[in-house]
Amino acid sequence: MTGFPTAARRVRDTGLESRDRLLALRTCVLRFQPYGFRATWHHLIVSANVPRRLDDDPLSLRRAVDELEEARLVWQAWNHEHAARRRREKAAGRRVSPRAEQWPDWAGLVAYCPEFEKHPTERMAVVVQRVIAAYESHVDQTATCRACGRSLTADAPCPDCGVDPRPSAHRTEFRTLAAHHRWREVWRRDR
Ligand SMILES: [Zn+2]
Repeated sequence: MTGFPTAARRVRDTGLESRDRLLALRTCVLRFQPYGFRATWHHLIVSANVPRRLDDDPLSLRRAVDELEEARLVWQAWNHEHAARRRREKAAGRRVSPRAEQWPDWAGLVAYCPEFEKHPTERMAVVVQRVIAAYESHVDQTATCRACGRSLTADAPCPDCGVDPRPSAHRTEFRTLAAHHRWREVWRRDR
């Protein structure tokens, strides 16, 4: 399977067919999807302003992958550092609470957003950085949104940014037919 760096190179290669570059971007999002696949995709298409006719703005796909890669680098750097720290703590015989261990293992679902059109709108690396900071300061993520800092009162996605505080967020993306149709529009960049 194609890895992120190879796919990212294909996205940036304006010598390739636009359609192939779009599919390479899809591969990148499958490899790293902080908000879940669809919300991450929606965010990138909107923020990079990717047009319906890709050839109208060939550089838009590059802007999209740049934003995603920037966030992925932040996440990876922290993951490596976190893993190294854990190894040191284990070697020193220190126990780490299971709760604190839970969320770095979410494999890219850093801030899952069940409604794909409701997700943080800031640059992705900024949000990932904030999620990491929340983790590092042991924020109770069921009481405070780890992505935007808003206080949470219900066991439901954050009303401001859409991030789900629950560790195993429910997959509700295709709950309704309307959501499914809307997703097809997003995929075609009709927005
Ligand atoms: Zn929030």
